[in-house]
Amino acid sequence: MSRDGHGRIIDYLRISVMDRCNLRCTYCMPLEGLRFLPEEDLLTAEEICLVAEAATAAGFRKFRITGGEPTLRKDLVEIVSGIRRVSPDADISMTTNAILLPRVAHDLRDAGLDRVNIHIDTLEAQRIRQVMRLADLDKILLGIEAAEEARLDPIKINSVVVRGVNDADIVELARQTLTKSWSVRFIELMPFGDGDEAIVARDSIVKTAESMARITSALGPLEAVPSTHPSEESRNYRLRGARGIIGFISPVSDPFCSSCNRVRLSADGRLLLCLLRDDEADLRAVIRGGGGVEVVRAALEAAILMKPIGHALDQGIHSSRRMHEIGG
Ligand code: SAM
Ligand code: SF4
Repeated sequence: MSRDGHGRIIDYLRISVMDRCNLRCTYCMPLEGLRFLPEEDLLTAEEICLVAEAATAAGFRKFRITGGEPTLRKDLVEIVSGIRRVSPDADISMTTNAILLPRVAHDLRDAGLDRVNIHIDTLEAQRIRQVMRLADLDKILLGIEAAEEARLDPIKINSVVVRGVNDADIVELARQTLTKSWSVRFIELMPFGDGDEAIVARDSIVKTAESMARITSALGPLEAVPSTHPSEESRNYRLRGARGIIGFISPVSDPFCSSCNRVRLSADGRLLLCLLRDDEADLRAVIRGGGGVEVVRAALEAAILMKPIGHALDQGIHSSRRMHEIGG
């Protein structure tokens, strides 16, 4: 079991497999002028699985594949089956915009993926093009269907709430939980990154209290659902009689740093110790220098000891990396 220097158990690795994306969400990527990592800088499937094996040896039990858009990776199925092979009992999930999911959902399930989180900011066909630029609502809905058919469930839906853009649409997304067993989670916008400057501004943030008030006034009271794990990032609720769950992730108004159990692997093999700080360790250099499982494990554990205690987003301090490199 890996503990950091503050006594927190670290057992969750988020793996960004790709910094590219087929969308350009306003708060995440600009439309033009993007620089992506050259192919040779990305960790190979084999290298990713070596890190997963070292992490498993260090006590990690949870892996999430993210990006950029992970489904753009041609060897995604190989990555998932490799992680499953080195970590047979782990919880393996993926965060995706789901557009390409119909092509690979069944293969991913067969390779050992447990479930997916699907990013959809609104159910309004016009508005989704405004916020998740280049997105097509029907394609994302087909992606959700494919995930359901492949039993990549329970399905979690992620929606970033942006003032004046999709803040009124959260009611319709929340209403889906009355009839569907989805967990719909509303995420506070984090004001940093490569996104549109007007969007990634402090006044675009809609705090959880405001989103909750909007939902309860339209759909009735929310009953708290106890969390299943102390480090769960969302606080969960249920509308009366609903099948699904409504969750709120509040990195701005209620950060969960004291119970943080995660580190991140960037697509170019850096171990990022906090989403919102620059502390990192270069695992790719360790691997390409000839390090095997035990050496990578030692590097991972040494880095985890240096994990910072909390972030300082409220003081305007944040990672200099871009969200599509980090993986959210
Ligand atoms: N492309 C996939 C997707 O969108 O789900 C995976 C990568 S994306 C970077 C992961 C998550 O980060 C998404 O749920 C997205 O909404 C979230 N995200 C991106 N930029 C954000 C920001 N500035 N504030 C809050 N969440 C953000
Ligand atoms: Fe792509 Fe996800 Fe970023 Fe949107 S949030 S641009 S889907 S990486």
